[in-house]
Amino acid sequence: MRYHSTRDENEKLNASAAIIKGIATDGGLYIPEIIPEFTGVELEKLMRLDYMSIAEKVFGKFLEEFSSKEISEIVSAAYKSSFDSEEIAPLHIADDKTAYLELWHGPTCAFKDVALSALPHLMKYSAEKCDVDSEICILVATSGDTGKAALEGFADVKGTSILVFYPEKGVSEMQRLQMATQKGENVGVCAIKGNFDDAQTGVKQIFSDEELSSFLSSKDVMLSSANSINWGRLLPQIVYYFSAYRDFVKANLISFGDKLNFVVPTGNFGNILAGWYAGMMGLPIGKLICASNKNNVLTDFFVSGKYNKNRQFYCTDSPSMDILVSSNLERLLYELSRSSEDVSLLMLSLSKEGEYEISDALHAKLLEKFFADFSDDDECREEIKRVWDNDKYLIDTHTAVASSVLRKYRINSGDNIPACIVSTASPYKFSGSVLAALSKANNEMSEFDKMKQLSKLTNTQIPKPLLGILDNELRFTDTAEISGMKAELLRFLGINEQE
Ligand SMILES: *Cc1c(COP(=O)(O)O)cnc(C)c1O
Repeated sequence: MRYHSTRDENEKLNASAAIIKGIATDGGLYIPEIIPEFTGVELEKLMRLDYMSIAEKVFGKFLEEFSSKEISEIVSAAYKSSFDSEEIAPLHIADDKTAYLELWHGPTCAFKDVALSALPHLMKYSAEKCDVDSEICILVATSGDTGKAALEGFADVKGTSILVFYPEKGVSEMQRLQMATQKGENVGVCAIKGNFDDAQTGVKQIFSDEELSSFLSSKDVMLSSANSINWGRLLPQIVYYFSAYRDFVKANLISFGDKLNFVVPTGNFGNILAGWYAGMMGLPIGKLICASNKNNVLTDFFVSGKYNKNRQFYCTDSPSMDILVSSNLERLLYELSRSSEDVSLLMLSLSKEGEYEISDALHAKLLEKFFADFSDDDECREEIKRVWDNDKYLIDTHTAVASSVLRKYRINSGDNIPACIVSTASPYKFSGSVLAALSKANNEMSEFDKMKQLSKLTNTQIPKPLLGILDNELRFTDTAEISGMKAELLRFLGINEQE
């Protein structure tokens, strides 16, 4: 199986090269040439497997040049001991047609763990296959969740190192502590004096610095990226759509073959796109419901066929979805149009004008499978309280967006078939906002005290990885100027400045 860019069908490479490169030279994203399918019999067999075995089957379909032994080693390194639930992605059943898929049982309590536990190992094996024997150094600019999950995934993985930049004032106290206490010999964390965009721009500049890249390669170092445009991050996310469907069947909420709707709290469009791929592989999915917060650029796009990022940016209670350019949408546009020429034009218009409009035909195709809506912070607070009062089940602010959108969708559309709400973070990762939804919040309290208060109020347990942070050693407290990011990288790598 070969992969190519969404902006050029001619440059073809295999999975390992696509994973190592991350993004195509033309700025496009890699996609598989064809989408592999499970036959009815294969699908029925999948329903009897555990999570890791399903992962092996799904990975196997996309990673042709990997042996089944290699795939099984990757899956086991990713999931065997780092999740606090044996099921990896357990289902919480709310009623006879609704359940929450909990994707936050990994080491950092957010769904990014599912992909970032696997990516380092996918990269390590890919590097071997591509005869890359230099050290792969992962550079990350993060607004919080991705940085920690990537650190945890790459920590002490041989042949790799990872350096994370975050905006000094742009992450929550919990997120800062999570990163500053990261363990591992090959990790580095540095705050920068600037916002997330500055960090992101600084990292992109380092990536496109050709002089630096050839200098580093003379020192046997190659830079790579762990953000969600890498195919190696999308692939592991396809797996839990299958395991969720299996669990709906097991719980008798559906029969095998019935359609199941999925509601996904969406930012960069990676998670929901993985669901679309699962559907194309043969999983009986009804609608994929794209749930946004007040930054509802995707809702407007699905309704009108026009994407327009020229709008106000809001900071919401669901910060991991505060995003105006959803990169992975490009993959869907290609898959539905199969035209790299059209996609290139749309993306050019996006970068030049900040907007684009798709054809009526493409718009109609999108709406066959997708529905989109949004909920603001007030609606989400109500939803957190409603779910807690009715069900004594605690959901985080991102999950609340999906949960709230599903309720509106059911009322407005009359489509009442069973639905899976994709739950992307532990409520304790956003204790302050969750607590404020349930009781009068005291803003003087530290994030830790809010966490304890939330636990007391709901009689639920604080996840171990968050509780342990207070006891861990503070390792990374440096702050750099934006102009000093490159020097920071060289120092991290232990390389002297270029002559
Ligand atoms: C990243 C993230 C999202 C958004 O996922 P996308 O794949 O970017 O659409 C939603 N919720 C949480 C908690 C996240 O960390």
